[in-house]
Amino acid sequence: MTGTLGSGFPAVVGGAEAEELRSSATTERRAPRARVLVLTTGGTISSRRAGAGLVATDGAFDVLGEVQVPPDVEVEYVDLMRVGSYQMRLADLRALSDAVIEAFARTGRQAVDGIVITHGTDTLEESAILLDLVHDDRRPVVLTGAQRPADAADTDGPRNLSHAIAVAAAPEARGLGVAICFAGEILRAKGTRKVQTSDLSAFDTLGSGAIGHVDDRRVRIHVRPVRSQPLALPTERFDHVRVDVVAMYPGADDRLLRAAVDAGARGIVIAGSGIGNANPTIAATVAELTAAGVVVALSTRVSDGPVIPLYGNGGGADLVRAGAVVAEFLPAFQARILLALLLSSGQPPDSVRSRFTDHV
Ligand code: ASP
Repeated sequence: MTGTLGSGFPAVVGGAEAEELRSSATTERRAPRARVLVLTTGGTISSRRAGAGLVATDGAFDVLGEVQVPPDVEVEYVDLMRVGSYQMRLADLRALSDAVIEAFARTGRQAVDGIVITHGTDTLEESAILLDLVHDDRRPVVLTGAQRPADAADTDGPRNLSHAIAVAAAPEARGLGVAICFAGEILRAKGTRKVQTSDLSAFDTLGSGAIGHVDDRRVRIHVRPVRSQPLALPTERFDHVRVDVVAMYPGADDRLLRAAVDAGARGIVIAGSGIGNANPTIAATVAELTAAGVVVALSTRVSDGPVIPLYGNGGGADLVRAGAVVAEFLPAFQARILLALLLSSGQPPDSVRSRFTDHV
């Protein structure tokens, strides 16, 4: 479903009646200061309790139902998917990227000033990094979602969405690239991952905090991240490229690494222990796989801090000597998306390794 909401419309009604009211509000308003496109994909912000548990049932119109649209902002909405983000495949991430590119290509009265994407929080960090890696526009893309479902009395969805719309419409957000807006915080996409399974403040950025804050009155940006050169857009090959994540723990052997390659993995992210360590067996296997053209990236299973190759005896220094590239501040599951994007672009492994290093 697609549609438009008028400026400052306090959306507290639902159903067909609301649709009618909103269209009339659209015809009477002044010219908007900004036009924001909201793309909905499902997730908890769209979910209600059904027989089987929480299910993403609400489309864009319902998700926007309780949202206060900032004055002078016109909101257009498109119902893109209705899935939990834990169900998403790489093809869905590419569909999201295509929708963003298509929207930013519009001209004239259809042009948009910013895009908001509502998304399940489980894998929001993966979609955010893909969009950010290829983002080549001054206009922002802002992802948001909820920790409490749409039918919970204390749902955080409408507030998060209203904040995200304010950020997407704000002139201050131009040039930020792709951001995540959650619980009043504005976070850059790169380095951000879900750190809380249930609390309202669900996200944090490795090695830094929020780049800005938003409340019901204003958007404040405190830090303007330096952005890397945009990468080429994902192609169909992205949908099927296999990159696995393998974690390290006491007694880890190389069988999962080999199984990943046997299953078709062209890239592997090692979620190493500590600052990025494994063991001598893994280091030897990394050397062998690297020689065979598999790209191995070294990340960490720790929730914060950079990966630095310091240790021998199968630690990070040995892994890098064996050919692994260091993910630094890029969390493991974002490193996986960067690797998938580069590997699916058709570049040889050596070039993938050096581009990976440029973008972490
Ligand atoms: N917990 C998730 C959410 O917030 C479920 C999902 O990722 O779809 O939406």
